Amino acid sequence: MKVIRDPQKLGRLIKEVKRKGKSVGFVPTMGALHAGHLSLIKEARKENDFVAASIFVNPAQFGPAEDLKKYPRPLKNDLLLCRKQKVDLVFLPDQQAMYPQGFVTYVNVEELSNRLCGLSRPGHFRGVATVVAKLLNLIGPDRLYLGQKDAQQAIIVQRMVKDLNFPVKLRVLPTVRQEGGLALSSRNVYLNASQKPQATVLFKALSLARSLIDQGQTNAERIIRRMKELIARKKEARIDYVAIVDLEKLNPVKKIDQDCLICLAVKIGKTRLIDNLVITHEKN
Ligand code: AMP
Repeated sequence: MKVIRDPQKLGRLIKEVKRKGKSVGFVPTMGALHAGHLSLIKEARKENDFVAASIFVNPAQFGPAEDLKKYPRPLKNDLLLCRKQKVDLVFLPDQQAMYPQGFVTYVNVEELSNRLCGLSRPGHFRGVATVVAKLLNLIGPDRLYLGQKDAQQAIIVQRMVKDLNFPVKLRVLPTVRQEGGLALSSRNVYLNASQKPQATVLFKALSLARSLIDQGQTNAERIIRRMKELIARKKEARIDYVAIVDLEKLNPVKKIDQDCLICLAVKIGKTRLIDNLVITHEKN
């Protein structure tokens, strides 16, 4: 496994890989790898001749009051995990390599970036879209692997890929959860022993929505109200948003009569967690 920090060196290696006609799968991450990341890597390994992963805690997607400094960076273990999964290349740039002095060019996926998580994290998706665009240009993969856990991110990247004609196929893979339903996240390490059980309330709220829909409830507002009531019972839970939106524009839906995304962001103590569920509507 090659670990490369320099974008130019990366370019030379990728050129060589492509010259040999190998297909390239790419998994971008911010490190602190867990089974969610590994599921993406495993799928990439299955579907491509060459697997590249990146580990870069992207400052452009963190707000000034967010956790950029304290974001976990267990690099040694991350590299070990990548090696185990037979990753061919880990791109490990530093801030200077990605945003050299004078950097002023950003990708803004309009409309989609200002909703849901974008409301409480202004600039976040501009940072995400910019870094993903840069990484796609540097690596030029055939397939890009993202997790459904970050549903808005996947929808925004899909839009960007289409709008800017990136020649890549996006693969979005299911959310990996731990026992009790909590979606794996690098930020779960911030939760203390009393917060961990409270954090399962996101999954419980989604499960409640699922069962209400299965019982025939189609009124989005009522479903959201029930979800909020459930979450409010947890002592340290503060709701950022609970929303039911369409899958393309992320506009709120009133009636569950189409495919939609039920999504939420909840702070448990100081830790902001997100989760979501896609509802596919069967047409009779
Ligand atoms: P991150 O390191 O948090 O930027 O995540 C890197 C990639 O892993 C993103 O595409 C995430 O959506 C994906 N990911 C994170 N957590 C999970 C999870 N629990 N299940 C599946 N994919 C995940």
